[in-house]
Amino acid sequence: MNELLRQLPKMDLLLEQGRVLHWIERKGRTRVVNALRQVLDDLRRQILEGTDPGDLLVAVVHKLNLMMVADERMRFRRVINGTGVVLHTNMGRAVLSEAATEAAVLAATGYSNLELDLESGERGSRYSHVEELLRDLTGCEDALVVNNNAAAVLLALDTLAKGGETVVSRGELVEIGGSFRVPEVMKLGGTTLVEVGTTNKTHLRDYEQAITEETRAILKVHTSNYRIVGFTKEVSREELVELGRQKEIPVIEDLGSGFLVDLGEFNITDEPRVDQVASAGVDVITFSGDKLLGGPQCGIIVGSKRAVGAMKKNQLTRALRIDKLSIAALEATLRAYLNPERVLEENPTLRMLRLPVDELESRARELARQLQIRLPGATVSAAQDVSRAGGGSLPLVELPTWVVRIQAPGFNEELWAAHLRRQTPALVGRRKQNTLILDVRTVDPEQWGLVGDLLSDAWKALEE
Ligand SMILES: *Cc1c(COP(=O)(O)O)cnc(C)c1O
Repeated sequence: MNELLRQLPKMDLLLEQGRVLHWIERKGRTRVVNALRQVLDDLRRQILEGTDPGDLLVAVVHKLNLMMVADERMRFRRVINGTGVVLHTNMGRAVLSEAATEAAVLAATGYSNLELDLESGERGSRYSHVEELLRDLTGCEDALVVNNNAAAVLLALDTLAKGGETVVSRGELVEIGGSFRVPEVMKLGGTTLVEVGTTNKTHLRDYEQAITEETRAILKVHTSNYRIVGFTKEVSREELVELGRQKEIPVIEDLGSGFLVDLGEFNITDEPRVDQVASAGVDVITFSGDKLLGGPQCGIIVGSKRAVGAMKKNQLTRALRIDKLSIAALEATLRAYLNPERVLEENPTLRMLRLPVDELESRARELARQLQIRLPGATVSAAQDVSRAGGGSLPLVELPTWVVRIQAPGFNEELWAAHLRRQTPALVGRRKQNTLILDVRTVDPEQWGLVGDLLSDAWKALEE
């Protein structure tokens, strides 16, 4: 025992170890030395109790690693979104409703009937939980959900168009969010892209002339993030459906940000609802779950029994499958849509998009008043501005809003913003010429106290 105690590594030796140096660099010498003392005390006690900890140097470094990692904050953390972008892809897009959150927690914390048919006791399908809801809400014959909308488009092409040609308008060969590029998804889906028309104009005859024996599908893509204005022509969905019928070729439409209700007087887009697209006779419609729908990340596919049924049988579906947390949250999100008035209040995405300007104004004035008290050295004011619906969905849509502007003499807004990003929760706003701007559309009043704490802490830290 005494021999073992004598063999405990000395601090000098420990401070030369590679892992120890790594932690010193990350957390500072004092923190690491204190932790090492604690580790050595623990080991000494263990030895006195009669346990042999094995190689002592290895044991010390191992225990130190555990302590240091436990010490680190979670990398994944809450961000207070002061940008006003309601569907911010980098900040996780849609915020889930209370009902959807509860459903996800339920799925996470216990066993469930994910793939168990409780009537028969036999194996069930994970898709069964949302199929009927999606049929009722869109009027389509069949539905399927996968991991995200990119996966939905891939699955549609792989199932319906593999080995043949797919006709797409040149004006719709878009890239969305840097990682979803229509020509590349087509390549992955094993279908040959046949471009028709020109960037600004595509006529029905262009599609007609492109259709050959090899054509398997006509694809229509929502050009979410750009718009061609001026001298333009696109072929209507009804005309494409009619052409598809004549030639017996399915029409697939990637709606991007499909939505199920009108936003009333707050309508922010002239896009049709999913049920309207479906009633035009499109065979397969795909859209994201975490854009305007305001649900979990997933790709929703609705359409004809024939097309969607074939997609369900495709082996690729297994590789693209949606997880149980998302299924549960999606069912709760969709269920709210059965009451179109209530969903506008209960779904956070729809609620934020619909906030009236006078409500935003009074929120901004009140938040500015509260922040001015916390930040006596700064000038805090409320001002009119514009918010955006979201980079991942309708980046072109601008909504009138109100913001809080924080200005301070000799103030380095870069440093302040960087400090705020490193806090837990992090606070992210916009910056403009010595001004930090917080859009009240995306900051819940429940977070205001915290915003005040974060700003005044950062202020003090930067003063030092
Ligand atoms: C957003 C978008 C996608 C990608 O959807 P994810 O759910 O992010 O995979 C595909 N197509 C269009 C038109 C989009 O707007």
